[in-house]
Amino acid sequence: MAEIRLAIVGLGKIAHDQHLPAVAATPGISVAAVASRNATLDGVPCFLTIEALLASGVEVDAVALCTPPMGRHRLAAAALRAGKHVLLEKPPGASVAEIAPLEALARDRGLTLFATWHSRFAPAVEPARALLAEAEIRSVRVNWKEDVRHWHPGQEWIWQPGGLGVFDPGINALSIVTRILPRPLFVTEAVLEFPGNRATPIAASLRLGDAAGLEVAVEFDWRQTGPQSWDIHVDTADGALVLSGGGRHLSRDGAILHDAPEREYTEIYHRFVALIGAGASEVDLAPLVHVADAFMLGERRVVAEFHW
Ligand code: NAP
Repeated sequence: MAEIRLAIVGLGKIAHDQHLPAVAATPGISVAAVASRNATLDGVPCFLTIEALLASGVEVDAVALCTPPMGRHRLAAAALRAGKHVLLEKPPGASVAEIAPLEALARDRGLTLFATWHSRFAPAVEPARALLAEAEIRSVRVNWKEDVRHWHPGQEWIWQPGGLGVFDPGINALSIVTRILPRPLFVTEAVLEFPGNRATPIAASLRLGDAAGLEVAVEFDWRQTGPQSWDIHVDTADGALVLSGGGRHLSRDGAILHDAPEREYTEIYHRFVALIGAGASEVDLAPLVHVADAFMLGERRVVAEFHW
């Protein structure tokens, strides 16, 4: 297969931190263009908008959308209509229902649509899934608590409608939980804490269940200073499994089972190249559905204003 010429759209934090190095480390794909209003990349043609890129005649085969979720549907639809494969950063959209038309467009045109969940590519996630497929699971606790000022400095879009607030990192935890647990989950309760001056929550507590009566307790908080927590505790009949570090480390009763370096985005680009080669798409909306349900079902509390 010829090398895939990729355009990056939205050259911000995640594009610089992860996409550019991961593409450079993946055989079969390279960056051929950029579309971003305020950023350029040396050595490739750069455009202000995706429309200008697609009209330019610069040859690209695929597009990675690294913009915030609001507006991503329009960008993805434009790319698919122009015959480009599309990789969506997480979350795949600003609403649940906007994804199905993209899947249909990709299917009709024989293109790949890849809705990525980077945390699912953390090294201990698949080993945890394999262990839990055989386990008697008693309860699950998720603690995803981080410092928004450190991880999202100055990003105003996270506080705007569609920006998801604390669910922007929280959806990563849900992407892991929905991958490692053996049965589909559903939200049963939610409490969302909104800063008085913001449109999205800074903290959330959720309860989820499944058809077998499992309870999953989830705590998301963006006000955590000091040590950060990205941990999933699973009590099983064979001991306490802890998936920590955002899916990087797995232990049972304190003994380390898996501990490998992180290469989430390199894995993502290997998968993208393989999906394009196979003429396949990969879209799982479960994490986004749970976030939407939390917004629908959740009790809203107003808490202290947030200022950078
Ligand atoms: P970011 O630093 O704000 O970058 C996004 C870029 O998109 C901006 O630099 C901007 O570039 C462009 N853009 C287009 N429309 C925009 C709008 N309405 N508001 C703001 N920027 C807009 O955000 P990011 O952290 O890279 O996150 C982008 C996506 O990646 C999000 O969906 C996020 O959940 C996901 N993600 C982020 C991280 C992380 O650690 N930051 C990790 C994993 C996934 P121009 O102004 O040049 O157009």
